[in-house]
Amino acid sequence: MKTDTIAAIATAMSNSGIGIVRISGDEALDVADRIFRPKKGSRKVSDMETHTIHYGYVTDGDEVIDEVMLLIMKAPRSYTCEDTIEIDCHGGVLVMKKILETVLKYGARPAEPGEFTKRAFLNGRIDLSQAESVIDVINAQNELALKSSVSQLQGAVLEKIKAIRAVVLHEIAFIESALDDPEHVSLEGYPEQLHEIMSDAHSKVKKLLDSSDNGKMLKEGINTAIVGKPNAGKSSLLNILVGEERAIVTEIAGTTRDILQEQIQIGGIGLNVIDTAGIRDTEDIVEKIGVNKSREYIEKADLIIYVVDSSTELDENDQEIIEAIQNKKAIVLLNKSDLDAKTDASVLQTQLSKPILSISAKNNTGIHELETLIEEMFFSGKLSFNDEVYITNIRQKNALAEAQNSLKMVLQSIADGMPEDFFTIDMMNAYEALGTIIGESVGEDLVNEIFSKFCMGK
Ligand code: GDP
Repeated sequence: MKTDTIAAIATAMSNSGIGIVRISGDEALDVADRIFRPKKGSRKVSDMETHTIHYGYVTDGDEVIDEVMLLIMKAPRSYTCEDTIEIDCHGGVLVMKKILETVLKYGARPAEPGEFTKRAFLNGRIDLSQAESVIDVINAQNELALKSSVSQLQGAVLEKIKAIRAVVLHEIAFIESALDDPEHVSLEGYPEQLHEIMSDAHSKVKKLLDSSDNGKMLKEGINTAIVGKPNAGKSSLLNILVGEERAIVTEIAGTTRDILQEQIQIGGIGLNVIDTAGIRDTEDIVEKIGVNKSREYIEKADLIIYVVDSSTELDENDQEIIEAIQNKKAIVLLNKSDLDAKTDASVLQTQLSKPILSISAKNNTGIHELETLIEEMFFSGKLSFNDEVYITNIRQKNALAEAQNSLKMVLQSIADGMPEDFFTIDMMNAYEALGTIIGESVGEDLVNEIFSKFCMGK
């Protein structure tokens, strides 16, 4: 089947050193022939070897538009699996636009956002989970999110999903053949065996699903609230973590009135830190907004950093905080370790049973330990991507949840002693739900929606 030839500017639409105009489709080489004049010789682009690069000019008739390098990748050895031309030109917005216009004039049409990647998917070079990871690689905000997306791009999710699906399909086929041919294929003792196999599949799906919480945090950052009574040193801590004088530090209790939010990086993990006004009763209206909000933030936060002024005794403000964070992931920081300790740490330990660290925001001590602790709490130490996959995509997460549900029903039906043909319906549902993750049996609408989120030229 003949495909349209598409083209787009693949680099950013701002002036820079180099720009790339990409062309893909059956006529890509012909279009290039019409607009490219090599510096030396007169060889046609279509006669040039694949995976070679050529120096010359983009021209429109007699007019020379730019001096360029032209890269040829013939099908199927290209990103899209189609004949592809990349023109490395000067990276000015005007010149890139003029080259694109010329390419369009001589036979290509403008690509839609994500259309190159969509073709890579439709031509079977990558599955849907890999295609989705392309956006994640581009949008990665921190190192670990990037590693996770790259591992998904390399097919880590695809492999896991394929393996689970293969097992489910094998058992469906077995049940059907047994039902078709009961004389030769016996189902004696089979339900027990199936239960074991489906439990294993179920736990694998669950593991992937569980990873999505971490995946979300990897992608978007850990929502972190710094709480503590006024003057405990919350702003000082935030300043150290952020590495600049962002929050205003003062000696008057209760000055951090607005909620500040900062994005910081800790060992490759992103923290979205909210510095709250502290939890306490107050008559001050402005302060009160902050106080109510901080309760709200505690509810929403993935992590609470509770700063205690260790040079004072625990008071009713601390008691309130201790109550409010009982059920949260939290770290207690005994701040002001440079001063004489008045806080009874053993009381905190009994009342809270959360990790406690001694720090001094003033002298910048204990911060490294805090960073290590956060990594351990959320990712059980350093993240390893050799065997771990983190699901970051909400669509993939929903499909996993559906598969998990269906597998649960299979296990239930087996436990209830239902007839075999009963299991296969739910097994088939699980199989199909998993299939949507990698792009099997998904409708055109969904495919279009997914790729429409891409940037131009990708
Ligand atoms: P917040 O109200 O919890 O945000 O507290 P601030 O960060 O504004 O700090 C209140 C006061 O405590 C300021 O004068 C800080 O300089 C001081 N402070 C903060 N951390 C330390 C520390 O580790 N040691 C000492 N000695 N003072 C500190």
